[in-house]
Amino acid sequence: MEKVKQKSLIENVQDQFNKAADLMKLDIGVRKILASPHNEIVTNFPVMMDDGSIEVFKGYRVQHNNILGPYKGGLRYHQTIDQGAVMGLAALMTWKTALSGLPFGGAKGGIQMDPSKYSNKEIERITRRFTFALGDNIGPDYDIPAPDVNTNSQMMAWIMDTYLSTKSPAERQNNIHIVTGKPVKSGGLEGRDAATGLGVVFTIEEWARDKKMDLKGATYTVQGFGKVGYWAAHFMNKLGAKLVAVQDHTGTIGNANGIDVEDLYKHTKKNNGGVNGYKGASEISSNDFFSTAADIFIPAALSDQVTGETAPMLKVKLIAEGANGPTNTEGEAICIAKGIDIIPDILCNAGGVIASYFEWLQNKRQETWELAEVNDRLKKKVVLAYRNVFNTAAEHKTDTRTAAYIVAISKIESVYKERGIFP
Ligand code: NAD
Repeated sequence: MEKVKQKSLIENVQDQFNKAADLMKLDIGVRKILASPHNEIVTNFPVMMDDGSIEVFKGYRVQHNNILGPYKGGLRYHQTIDQGAVMGLAALMTWKTALSGLPFGGAKGGIQMDPSKYSNKEIERITRRFTFALGDNIGPDYDIPAPDVNTNSQMMAWIMDTYLSTKSPAERQNNIHIVTGKPVKSGGLEGRDAATGLGVVFTIEEWARDKKMDLKGATYTVQGFGKVGYWAAHFMNKLGAKLVAVQDHTGTIGNANGIDVEDLYKHTKKNNGGVNGYKGASEISSNDFFSTAADIFIPAALSDQVTGETAPMLKVKLIAEGANGPTNTEGEAICIAKGIDIIPDILCNAGGVIASYFEWLQNKRQETWELAEVNDRLKKKVVLAYRNVFNTAAEHKTDTRTAAYIVAISKIESVYKERGIFP
């Protein structure tokens, strides 16, 4: 039998948008505006490799919408990055910032590359040259990048340094909010690294409260053990939940008696970021991973993981989407029919951009915020968004993703109606 081609991320995001737009009877003009991004920037830029040869890289920045504030979204270095993927991820950022009540719009960018093939020095030159190529298409009050898959605080420091070097000396200090997710000593926010994972766990706690379920002793699986997956596991561990299987790009491991989160993290640090070869668990197949019986599944890697193929295998009560776009529309329909709850990406992983907003404010006001204050404010915003989404789902008798889109898009629709269209 011929295999049905899976929808791409952008097609899934468009389907999800159309479903919400139909249900909320979105104004036809606003619907047309939101269906396409404002700007799509593609740049081919040269970089010198360690051996003196030249390679040309393709970098993207898609600015989806800025009616609520500056464009905001991460930069991803990955071989799957192309214009369509970035368009889908940029639109998700517009919905996420609106849902979280932030004065930001949505954008996303990245470079089509496999970073494991390059030295640290090469990654630095690639990052700096990409920043230079973007020039004033980004800006601290215009479009503010942040870390995403395979990018980190070190790269944000290089972006900031390169961007500031293009400004006059007197302007430099006023521009450090050009990126968020910076190292703390370079103007970053205490707790920004952990914030996405912490936000994931705040949403899981709200869900458990509604279900009257005790998370102590609850079991969960995680896909991706990077910035989001590790920190989500770290905070689940603090609540007494038990990690029973993990998958990343290097392998898949399981242990029904529980995997020691911090010990696994130490292993990945010595093992190029990978979970393979970890002695505290056995190697399992990908199918075994998806069919592991657990209370909660936290996808925290790439998009299109819960699909028509994998959703039938799932034996969980909840999918908490740490990743962006991990569930495609076919996979979602199967999960809903099976009674699996979903905390959708734009709600579940919004802790990252909320903390980025705090970092941006901290820089603009030349303040330093303390961790307890960051986490307190983060929790308030995440819980408010969670309640808005679940109340809207009940009101419209719809699924949680459609409800999250409705909350976000309604806000944007109101602002378009208030401001009107120029001229
Ligand atoms: P990361 O680079 O720190 O980690 C990515 C993880 O995914 C790694 O553990 C990697 O091994 C794993 N992975 C890659 N390919 C895989 C595959 N084919 N199968 C299984 N695992 C694979 O990235 P991150 O920042 O943790 O981002 C993870 C997800 O969370 C992405 O979807 C990202 O868009 C989303 N997200 C990140 C943030 C943030 O603040 N970093 C915020 C919101 C959402």
